[in-house]
Formats: sequence, structure tokens, C-alpha cells
Amino acid sequence: MVKVKDTFYAWANNEDIKAKGECGGAVTTLLKYALESKTVDAVLAIVRGADLYDGVPTLITKPEDIIKSAGSLHCAPTNIGKFLVQYLEGAKNMKIAVPVKQCDARSILAAAKRGKVNRDNILMIGLNCGGTMRPVAAREMISKFYGMNPDEVIKEEIAAGKFIVVNKNHEHKEIKIDELEDQGVGRRMNCQRCDIKIPRMADLACGNWGVIGPLAGKATFVEVCSEKGAKLMDGVINAKVLNTQAPDPKGLEIREKTDGAMVKLAAKHQKKQFTQAAMDSSYWAKQYSKCIKCRGCTVHCPVIFDLDQKIMPYEGTGLLPPAMAYHFARAAALGTDCINCGNCEDVCPMEIPVSRLHHEISKRLGAEIR
Ligand code: FAD
Ligand code: SF4
Repeated sequence: MVKVKDTFYAWANNEDIKAKGECGGAVTTLLKYALESKTVDAVLAIVRGADLYDGVPTLITKPEDIIKSAGSLHCAPTNIGKFLVQYLEGAKNMKIAVPVKQCDARSILAAAKRGKVNRDNILMIGLNCGGTMRPVAAREMISKFYGMNPDEVIKEEIAAGKFIVVNKNHEHKEIKIDELEDQGVGRRMNCQRCDIKIPRMADLACGNWGVIGPLAGKATFVEVCSEKGAKLMDGVINAKVLNTQAPDPKGLEIREKTDGAMVKLAAKHQKKQFTQAAMDSSYWAKQYSKCIKCRGCTVHCPVIFDLDQKIMPYEGTGLLPPAMAYHFARAAALGTDCINCGNCEDVCPMEIPVSRLHHEISKRLGAEIR
């Protein structure tokens, strides 16, 4: 019997899934089995879209279609929590399995806290996450720093602290993420600050950290985080569709160490980005004076649901920039539930560092959803 906190190295039995999966296809196998066993009615996974900078949230109901979602897209930020609420009725009428990074998982928990999602109907297959990149910025970075045509890139990955790119001629280039970030490119600012790397709030936490020896790169480290996760692992092992073995004790140690190093690095970025200026109201008054009232930060926030339906009287009719009260109202709606997904900042045409303020407030108050 699988129990909460059990850990495994896991990889697919099916050769196609193993080949297409990022690290042995364990996640794809778990999602496929969840559908086949009728544990869920559907899977909401990220499928490569127009190119590898485009990840499309896709509802899959046929087990044979799951394979199209295999692989990790590091240049495809997602807004899964809001997607579930807006397009899938908050999983109130359907059981759904979702692969989630920690920010995706916490957006679902935040939505559930607000009664917008039925958490009982959601099975979260967590993915460790070292960070994502903005699609357009990633294309520019590949062109400028890698000297490659972004349209000719066939594979990108993050491994051992490097962003690695391979093009159609199988030319391979890697640059340390630290070096990229020193030059103002690399991971999104909020991912640099993100200090939750292993998504233990999900039902399972899966990633490549800690897989060493002959299985390195070919298997995924799975940590069981809930009874639901234990039941799924039991089922998939008994059905013999997932191969597992006990993790190498040294691998366990490396996983903990890597996680610790990433959390420390995030603290360093927080210190750098959470400047005194961020707590200075005149700094924020200046930032918000750039606001053009497009409301993107509200519409795309996975935690705010009701403000986007109506124009608020305190936005100030005819005023541009809006009265500061608009941003106060937004802050009140958000409370301390900012999950630092960075969507608000990504969509802001005026490049106001909206997410930084709310992340800093949540951190200072120690009141994050975990
Ligand atoms: P697969 O069977 O290939 O399944 C991958 C699943 O990921 C698919 O279901 C797909 O829908 C989903 N997915 C792909 N892109 C995204 C995305 N952008 N957002 C949400 N879901 C997505 N592991 C670590 O140990 N350390 C890390 O630093 C780390 N960083 C990661 C960063 C990102 C953005 C992602 C997506 C994954 C990261 N992982 C990390 C996890 C690792 O890359 C593998 O996904 C994991 O080991 C599972 O491998 P697999 O072969 O079982 O997955
Ligand atoms: Fe990954 Fe960034 Fe989300 Fe953290 S905030 S889980 S680093 S995408």
C-alpha cells in the first residue's frame, strides 16, 4: 500500500510515452491512468500550441489523446486556476486531473477558498518548478544571447542551473541562468522570487531533482502528498503501467539540497527586488500613475473573480490614470492571497511591477496560501 510521504523513481511502461515524456513520462502515465480508471472525467493539461513558446490549456477526455500533452514547456506561463473557473465551471460538475506547478496549485486552492472551485473534484499532479520564461522575451533572448533563430528551436530545457536550447540542426547551446539573469533576461521576475519549488500542496509532487545514476533524465522523482495521491499511485503500480523503484538515498539528499539552494536563491532575489522603495507610497503612486485602466491585472488575476465583471465607481469616471482607489480596491479584493503567479505583471502594457508589491505584502504578513 502506498502511503503519504512515500517516494519513488517512476517511469512509463509504454515506450511512446517514455520517449515523449520530459523525464520518463510518469506524469503522462498518471494522467492517462486517472482517465482510464475513471478516477476523473477529464484531464486539463498543457499542450504545445503554435510553437514551443506556446502552451495551450487543453481538456482531454480520451486516454489515447493524453500523450500529446507530454513534455515540459518552460516558456509557457499558465493561468490554470482562472481557466478552471471561467471555462470549466470550477470543476463543480466534473472530476478533473490537472498537472500543476506550485503557483497553478495555489491558484486552484485560492479559488477553492473563495468557493469558485470544488477542490474535491480536482486531482493535482504537481510539478517541481524552477521557473518559467515569458514567451516573447524568451524568443528575443534566444536570438540575442544564443545566436539562434527562435523559430528553429526544437527543444528547450532547464537543467543543472542552465537554460539549454537545441535547434533543428541539432546544434546545442547552454547558458547559466544566473548569467542570463545578471543581464536582465532569463526567468520571469516573480519566478526568480518564488520560494516554493516542490508543490507539496498538490496530491503528488513530481520532478527530476534527485534522480541520479542510470535513471537520471529517464525517470521522475514522485513524492506522495495526499491520500488521493497515494490511491492513484497504488492504482497505477497495480495496473503495471508505471515502473517504480525506491529512490537512491543519495538522490533523496541531493533533491533536498537542490531545493534548499533554490529557496535560498529566491530569498536573494526577494531581498534585491523587495526594495525600500516598494514600501514607499510615493514610489507606488508614481508607478500607478502610469496605469491606463485596461484592467488586465484584475481580469487575469487567478484570485480576483468578481471585480472584473463591473466598472467600479472608484475607478473615477473620465479619469486617466484612474483614481488610486482602483488599486486600493484591487488590493482589498486580493487580500493576502497573492500567489505570485506574475500574470498581472505579464499583461500590464505599462510594465507596472504589480505583482512585486502584492508578493512583498503577502511575504511581510506571512499569510500566503500554501
Ligand atoms: P511528462 O509525462 O512529460 O508530463 C509533463 C506534464 O507537464 C504534462 O502533463 C504537461 O501538460 C505539463 N506541463 C508542461 N508544461 C507545463 C507548464 N508550463 N505548466 C504546467 N504544466 C505543464 N522538475 C524539477 O525537479 N526541477 C525543476 O526545476 C523543474 N522545473 C520545471 C519547470 C516547468 C515550467 C515545468 C513544466 C516542469 C519542471 N520540472 C522541474 C518538472 C520536470 O520537468 C518534469 O515535468 C517532471 O519530472 C515530470 O516528467 P514526466 O516525464 O513524468 O512528465
Ligand atoms: Fe514556477 Fe514561477 Fe510558478 Fe514559482 S511562480 S511555480 S517558479 S512558474
